Amino acid sequence: MKIDNPIQQHIDSLREQLHQHAHAYYVLDEPSIPDAEYDRLFRELQSLEAQYPESHSDDSPTQRVGAAPLDAFVSVEHEVPMLSLGNVFSDDELVAFDQRLRERLDYPSELEYAAEPKLDGLAISLLYEDGVLVRGATRGDGSVGEDVTQNIKTIHSIPLRLPKRGDWPKRLEVRGEVYMPKAGFEAMNAKAREQGDKVFANPRNAAAGSLRQLDSRIAASRPLDMYCYSVGVFEGELPATHSETLAMLGRWGFRICPESAVVTGASGCAEYYQQIGRARDTLPYEIDGVVYKVNSLKLQGDLGFVARAPRWATAHKFPPSEELTVLQDVEFQVGRTGALTPVARLEPVNVAGVVVSNATLHNMDEVKRKDVRIGDTVIVRRAGDVIPEVVKSVLERRPKEAPAIVMPSHCPVCGSDVIRPEGEAVARCSGGLYCSAQRREAIKHFASRKALDIDGVGDKLIDQLVDGELIDHVDDLFHLTVEQLASLERMGEKSATKAIEALENAKRTTLPKFLFALGIREVGEVTARNLAMHFGDLEPIMQASEDDLLAVADVGPIVAAHVKSFFEQPHNIEVIDKLLEAGFVWEPIEVAEQKEAVLDGHTYVLTGTFTAMKRDEAKQQLLALGAKVSGSVSKKTTAVFAGDSPGSKVDKAAELEVPVKTEEDLLELLKTM
Ligand SMILES: [Zn+2]
Repeated sequence: MKIDNPIQQHIDSLREQLHQHAHAYYVLDEPSIPDAEYDRLFRELQSLEAQYPESHSDDSPTQRVGAAPLDAFVSVEHEVPMLSLGNVFSDDELVAFDQRLRERLDYPSELEYAAEPKLDGLAISLLYEDGVLVRGATRGDGSVGEDVTQNIKTIHSIPLRLPKRGDWPKRLEVRGEVYMPKAGFEAMNAKAREQGDKVFANPRNAAAGSLRQLDSRIAASRPLDMYCYSVGVFEGELPATHSETLAMLGRWGFRICPESAVVTGASGCAEYYQQIGRARDTLPYEIDGVVYKVNSLKLQGDLGFVARAPRWATAHKFPPSEELTVLQDVEFQVGRTGALTPVARLEPVNVAGVVVSNATLHNMDEVKRKDVRIGDTVIVRRAGDVIPEVVKSVLERRPKEAPAIVMPSHCPVCGSDVIRPEGEAVARCSGGLYCSAQRREAIKHFASRKALDIDGVGDKLIDQLVDGELIDHVDDLFHLTVEQLASLERMGEKSATKAIEALENAKRTTLPKFLFALGIREVGEVTARNLAMHFGDLEPIMQASEDDLLAVADVGPIVAAHVKSFFEQPHNIEVIDKLLEAGFVWEPIEVAEQKEAVLDGHTYVLTGTFTAMKRDEAKQQLLALGAKVSGSVSKKTTAVFAGDSPGSKVDKAAELEVPVKTEEDLLELLKTM
């Protein structure tokens, strides 16, 4: 069946628009329309293509999402071989390289070079016929590579077809490097680490591994990108220079490395090398050197090739970003949330210009997975400003009795117990209130709006107090004087007095607030409230066994383990005792047996403005009676209590046939309980 002409035209127009928007977004970094609009056009095209399968086209933007898995890759013979480059490793070798070329050409003046960063990725060939991408292939051995077209198509910055009115030749082969940006690589590995999956050693392996997936949906999920740097097959007239060729590719929609430049003579090359070397850590992609190419294509032709490498180009390598060294010991660092991270102490080694003597091992799961032991010879990687890491052990070089790395049972900073409840990925110090690694965060949390809400004692002031060693632990806050505070930078007498008053007022509090303010891991506002309601006072909570704790609403094994372990730490108890001595008081909560759980199994929604009591107050009373209070109406909702000017929740309730009641009904309910 032939498609209606207007429909085909509309499909064509959608494809053209999407191509242009994708180019603006992925190649130029200048989105032309909001993402939502792009998605809308994309979905419209998808549904039209589904409705009219005969409109299928391999270069449609919808073909980027990944296709059915292949059984194997097909070999591809390169019409023009993909050559390798010679190397220079020093300025002297660079000068010699330049001199050789000028002698060979009998060139009287300085040569012009096109210079560009050498990306650490995978060389790829893209073949276009009549402006449409027909094949993407790996370099392979230079003569024969593999057809990875399906995976190549998932990379958004690679044009599936060239601009309609371009002066491109009938057959065009573009070459460049497919790579994984540093940020995407770090994010992908962080996620894998969290989920206990395998991580990639470096961005180059990640890019290569992604392109060699038979299932292109995997490649589609990976953050790959490409910079183009040359042409292979070219049926037509090329410009006079390499830099003009790059500019031409840019006009046709290919991504060109913005750090590319034209320089003069060996000194210009050396300067470029220095400049890129200084920028190396901050570039968003990983590089292992720079490349110089004689800019004039005519001179390139005159120079020709030697073996499989062009005479007219060379790579100037940077020191490598991975080195071997010996792991001498492992220490455990305690983070500000109490998490313990294994850190390798290394025999100092120079990695890409920086001496590295510490490297992260991330967590114990990864230590186990990589089977790293003390005394091992390890590969250390340092890239950009990321913390150096141990990539893996060289097993062949393992000494006879290499001890395993063991998580300590006590915090190396404060001596409190280290706990790792079952199901948790991270081991933590349980001395949250006392541990000096955690105190800054602990004090900030204690004074924060949601906890004790101490006006005028914000994060900045707490930083000043900790840095100035005026306080060690939260209880020290309550021994500060106006004079001490007023002597701090940006603190006047007036604000100092106010802060001291606020501290004084904070001592009259409620048990739930106090519990929450202690910053026990996994104990949020709701859990603190539930614990308070269940036990009535602090002492019984401190004495509670794990079984006692498990009886509290919404408390599971992980929360119970954290609460129990927190109150088992003598140092935490010390700080709590000092807080009580400083004058903290609250009304104990009457734990009325009959009151408990009368509303168990009921779920209420509160909406609108209440007059007799605040909505939050009503919520707390309902919670105390064992009810659940939810923010949204569902079929499980028992009733909605609506105050003045209620919102859409009332409509939703009507739709689901959930009863809607008034504030009076609510007061009545609470009174009878
Ligand atoms: Zn500690």
